Amino acid sequence: MGPLNLAAESFDSSANQLVILQYHHVDPKTPDSTSISPQQFLIHMEHLATNGYQIVRLEQAIDKIKRGIALADKSVAITFDDGYKNLARFALPELQKRKWPATIFINPGLLEKHSSHYLSWDELKHWSLQGMTIANHGWQHDYWIRREAGYSAKEWQQKIKTSILETEKSIKQQIGVSHKLVAYPYGEYDTWLQSWLIDNQFISFGQQSGVVASYSDFSALPRYPASGVYADISTLKQKLNTFALPIDYQKLPSPLAMTENPPQLHLSWLNESFAVDTRFACYVSGQGKAEILAEVKRVKIQAQKPLNLGRSRYNCTLPVKGKPNYYYWFSQPWLSLESLD
Ligand SMILES: [Zn+2]
Repeated sequence: MGPLNLAAESFDSSANQLVILQYHHVDPKTPDSTSISPQQFLIHMEHLATNGYQIVRLEQAIDKIKRGIALADKSVAITFDDGYKNLARFALPELQKRKWPATIFINPGLLEKHSSHYLSWDELKHWSLQGMTIANHGWQHDYWIRREAGYSAKEWQQKIKTSILETEKSIKQQIGVSHKLVAYPYGEYDTWLQSWLIDNQFISFGQQSGVVASYSDFSALPRYPASGVYADISTLKQKLNTFALPIDYQKLPSPLAMTENPPQLHLSWLNESFAVDTRFACYVSGQGKAEILAEVKRVKIQAQKPLNLGRSRYNCTLPVKGKPNYYYWFSQPWLSLESLD
């Protein structure tokens, strides 16, 4: 979370962008909301292959972006959450055929208990030798920021830190390498956890949509869900044509930081010329357009009605000048756990 040193004149907001796709099940028979059928997955892979996308290793691409080393244009990373057994049957062979890497975020506490549902350590080891990265999704897929009764704040934080550290330790022991990549279960995070992960050199990923760029917050990197309602190829094509909205991501609130409902969100532009663009629009889960108030260097966004309990999003887009069908994209996740009166 260091300071940004982007000179306005040299700022190119389309440079060094990484789209990360997020899948769960790849199976014809698993629940619709988190699944993509093998046929549809194949359509995604064919589209990536025939349209010049560069499938990159997640940890290497992130490292390059952080160091300011150029990524290939149209770089895409593929990720799978939860490490389901069906990946070995329907998804990973398709990647292997194309010599493409992917990252599998796993829960050791679940895979050790339910061997018929999840890839085993032996299988993960096999796939890591085929070029797949095995990464951290927590010990047993707990809700990390929904503190259970009977825990003090400090005790709860300790429990979650232990879940992350034990998972990383197991990956290192079983697979032989630790990349310190964490995907938040359910995409839920909070400020204390982000700070702790940054202090401990972890890179962390949410489930809010968007693109990774040098100006991203590396404790809450966005990924595009590509399963369920997002599995359609036309949706995927649209997401692949996006860049990270050029705002100061270090100033964003955590999903839990709602002091009013609907919450007001302030975005600070990295380049003032964006502030006057009237094509900028934001949408609220289940509501339609949000109200937008443009100021000199920033913009205020607020839903018209209170957000529902649970997870919501403000999704914002802006067409890219001189690049038809391309959009800057940004998504702010919200988590409402109780009504704010
Ligand atoms: Zn998960």
